[in-house]
Order: sequence, then C-alpha cells, then structure tokens
Amino acid sequence: MVRLLLIEDDLTIRTPLLRALRERGHAVAAASTALAGLRDALDDRPDLVVLDLGLPDLDGRELLRMLRAVSSVPVIVATARDDETEIVRMLDAGADDYLVKPFTAAQLDARARAVLRRTAGDTATADPTLVVGGLRIDPRSRQVSLDGVPVELTPREFDLLHHLAGRAGQVVTKRELLTEVWRIPYGGADKTVDVHLSWLRRKLGERAQEPRYLHTVRGVGVRLAAPGDGR
Ligand code: CA
Repeated sequence: MVRLLLIEDDLTIRTPLLRALRERGHAVAAASTALAGLRDALDDRPDLVVLDLGLPDLDGRELLRMLRAVSSVPVIVATARDDETEIVRMLDAGADDYLVKPFTAAQLDARARAVLRRTAGDTATADPTLVVGGLRIDPRSRQVSLDGVPVELTPREFDLLHHLAGRAGQVVTKRELLTEVWRIPYGGADKTVDVHLSWLRRKLGERAQEPRYLHTVRGVGVRLAAPGDGR
C-alpha cells in the first residue's frame, strides 16, 4: 500500500482516479488547491504526491518549488500540456516523473511504484551502515549486531570496530589505530590496542587462536574480514 496525495482541482479527473487508486489498495487523500495540497503534504507526510499543474490558486511549478524547499517527498506531475519544455522545467524543478493527461489509474500506479523504488534506492545508498559478513555496524545509532544479535560495545570498542570495518579485508597497523582511533601519537604504547582488541574479540565471541572476524597479522596489525573471506 502506498499513501498518495492527489492535488487536483478537476472533479471529473479526481473522483474516478481516487476510486480506482483505492481499489488498487492505496490510501489516497486529495486536495483541490495548491495551498491545501502543500499543507496536507507537510501534515500527512504521504509517500508520494501527484501534482496537477493547472490549479486555481497557484501555478503547479510554484507549488513544486515551495514543496521542494521543505520536503523531499517524491512528486509525479500530472500535466495536460503535452509540452516538452514544460515537462523538462518541472523535472528540473524537482519533479520525479510526469504523466500527460488523460492517464489511467494503472499507469499512475506503475509510475508511482517505479518512482518509489528509485527513491528507496537513494536512501539505501545513503545508508552509512557497514556490513562485514554477519556484522552490522551503524555509525548513526552507534549500534552493532552480529548475526542479528546486538553486541554491547564501549565507545572506544565501537570506534575501533568501525575503523576496521571501513577497511575490511585490509591489514590495519597498530600505529594507524592509535593515531586514528585513539588520536594519540605512536610511542610504543601498543598494548592499549592489544587490550582493546582482545576485549572486542571476546564480545564478538571469538578467540585469537580461532579467529572468525578479527585476524592478528603478527608484527603488522590486524585485519577484519568476514569468515571465509581471504583466508
Ligand atoms: Ca486542473
């Protein structure tokens, strides 16, 4: 189910479209002016807005500009103008797609799903979570899970694991860990790193003799890798 907001003043278009979209299982709200549509888009936070360009109070392009200033909700523009210049202007102004009237609910439904797939993809790309095998490291919430089970780490252990996970598969030297994670110059105090690595190892449920994720490279440093990767 998609939560749609239809901003359209023409009842002969709006009424059958609302009915058809609801029959297809979507939750559809409607507004008949630009300002009512803007308010509903901000208050109700729909998944997608379908915007008619010919509205009684404001030009659709003006509304799109106002909406884009405060929201990144996907917008499909519905235009009666089969006018390439206008369509290009709307896409440049931040519309995600367009439909030329008359269009069917089935066409709108297909476009809506395509736009939502694309915008969901954008969100996934922006997700900074690091994944190494069964390890998930989310720097926003500073939470770690291993095979779906939360792992409680101290702030330093988290920083250490996050640094290693960002370089998964590579050997990271203790010198680098001291300067990048502890922010102290290397001065032979690498026992600190060893101690934290052994605590981290224990929390990940493994032993130095039988590593799964954390591999000590003797005399060099440590490498984080998914079990079975590059061993
Ligand atoms: Ca209209």
